[in-house]
Amino acid sequence: MSAANLAPQPGPPLWLLAELTYRCPLHCAFCYNPVDFATSGPELSTDDWLRVLREARAAGSVQCGFSGGEPLVRDDLEILVAEAHRLGFYTNLLTSGVGLTAERAAALKAAGLDHIQLSFQDSTRELNDFLSHTRTFDLKQRVAALIKDNGWPMVMNCVIHRLNIDYIDRIIEMAVELGAEYLELANSQYYSWALLNRDQLLPTRDQLERAERITNEYREKYGDRIRIFFVVPDYHEKRPKKCMNGWGNVFLTVTPDGTALPCHTAKMLPGLAFPNVREMGVRDIWYESEGFNRYRGDSWMKDPCRTCPDKEKDLGGCRCQAYMLAGDPAAADPVCDKSPAHGLVVEAVARAEAGAGRSAPLVFRDPAASRRIAAEGG
Ligand code: SF4
Ligand code: SF4
Repeated sequence: MSAANLAPQPGPPLWLLAELTYRCPLHCAFCYNPVDFATSGPELSTDDWLRVLREARAAGSVQCGFSGGEPLVRDDLEILVAEAHRLGFYTNLLTSGVGLTAERAAALKAAGLDHIQLSFQDSTRELNDFLSHTRTFDLKQRVAALIKDNGWPMVMNCVIHRLNIDYIDRIIEMAVELGAEYLELANSQYYSWALLNRDQLLPTRDQLERAERITNEYREKYGDRIRIFFVVPDYHEKRPKKCMNGWGNVFLTVTPDGTALPCHTAKMLPGLAFPNVREMGVRDIWYESEGFNRYRGDSWMKDPCRTCPDKEKDLGGCRCQAYMLAGDPAAADPVCDKSPAHGLVVEAVARAEAGAGRSAPLVFRDPAASRRIAAEGG
């Protein structure tokens, strides 16, 4: 019997992330959608998504996140939420708030939506609207009120980076004023559009330490009134994150064109075919496909991870980051100071310390830029 046959059977895909569309009225400079999103194929139909929901639930999924792009641009969102609710999923909508009218909020409530996560770009109109390249600040305030009025828990998310990290106190104050019960201060991770803008977005170590200190002061001040999560940027760490809690371990992402991925950026990895839900059932995708098995567990590792005493803790970090920075998806994540490519991360942080991106313009996410960059092979 081969070693592969002895490998323990993975658990079910507990978390289904349904990326309904790449369409989005915002243009965030840190957007996590693939840089070439505008070249992806047609979106799945309503019937396709209904089938995916049923198959995923039958395969053991319990949480369903509807995201995008902006999921509210799909006018079948209420139908999909209702079906997910009927199937017994805990449902979550990740939104910029654009398109959430009082009517749609009421329809989503009636459909059984459990939870909304509303994203903000900053605490001021100027920076919020600059970073998203849209006038959405006032709209987000109204949407926050709608979320409260409908009795959903108020969960806010703000991507943190060099341009807004110094206003972290105001961001927290704003979340408190809007009645947020949870606030995620998610330092930008450097993938996709954020990688293009890394010099402009990566904070300095001083900025980061100050922001963490202030966050801790607010935690003490407000106690249980608001739970604040501060996600540290891994470039400033010496050990990588356990990406997606392990490849093909918990998360199943389905992209707008039906490609099934262990994480939303994995499609970039070379030499790896990912299945499509139009052609393969969710259970087979999860347990049988090469895409979901390639980096499961630790048998694929090479040194230094293969012989590392810490390999269970982080499973070698992120495969996409290993590919983007070291050019090898099976390498140790270069965030790790044992990686031979760690110098690339040190260099990026040094560039941030020196203000290398000070005068460079941001590249905002939009379909024209996406097509241009894709055509250039970027
Ligand atoms: S990060 Fe910004 S541009 Fe990207 S999908 Fe979210 S709201 Fe839209
Ligand atoms: S060498 Fe690999 S397994 Fe060990 S800590 Fe670094 S990334 Fe993790």
